[in-house]
Amino acid sequence: MSASEEDPDDKNAALREAGRLLFARPWVFRLGVVKLETLPPADRIEIAFAGRSNVGKSSLLNALTGQNGLARTSNTPGRTQEINVFECEHADLRLIDMPGYGYAAAPKGKVDAWTRLIKQYLRGRPNLRRVFLLIDSRHGIKAVDARIMDMLDVSAVSYQVVLTKIDKIGVGALEEVTAKVGAVLAKRPAAFPEIIATSSEKGTGIAELRAEIAGLLT
Ligand code: GDP
Repeated sequence: MSASEEDPDDKNAALREAGRLLFARPWVFRLGVVKLETLPPADRIEIAFAGRSNVGKSSLLNALTGQNGLARTSNTPGRTQEINVFECEHADLRLIDMPGYGYAAAPKGKVDAWTRLIKQYLRGRPNLRRVFLLIDSRHGIKAVDARIMDMLDVSAVSYQVVLTKIDKIGVGALEEVTAKVGAVLAKRPAAFPEIIATSSEKGTGIAELRAEIAGLLT
């Protein structure tokens, strides 16, 4: 093979290693914001994580960073209304944890405030490279998720679906939900076609997600 040709296997292995190193470093909670003005300056690449309350977002962030206490995990949906910001001293990357949406009992005022904040963030963040949209593998895409996809498509923010809790379903069900979600994504202009299937509980797909994120920095 000539030097100009890249072996895809080598590239994948390199990205996995880069992803492993990126998240082997300590990540810290920097701040929680309820107003866009208090976000840190757009001085580095950002990736954001969004999903319905209870989708497993905190667990995924903890699995990604290998730090159990980093993001709070709880069974109290709708509690966190802030955008939580995580940084690492040694990485030109910022992780943005968006407040969970779709909590049925949330008062309308709170939902409106959430929608405003997220819309502003999605429209006004030039350094936002990708949103990872978490979908519970047992439930697939719900109406509230579709509304977020609408927002992302309108804002032309690239997003990628991460299926969560795949340890809770069988192989057949995983194939089914992957096909269904894939068909939806194919019609969505800003959606990235590849789906990452994860289980924070078992560690499945975490190395792939880290590699995907490392690829956004190259
Ligand atoms: P969040 O509200 O989106 O931050 O969700 P959490 O991370 O707090 O998770 C909600 C619930 O799902 C908790 O009871 C977690 O223990 C559980 N959970 C999260 N990820 C997984 C997973 O990969 N597998 C299983 N079996 N349970 C999970």
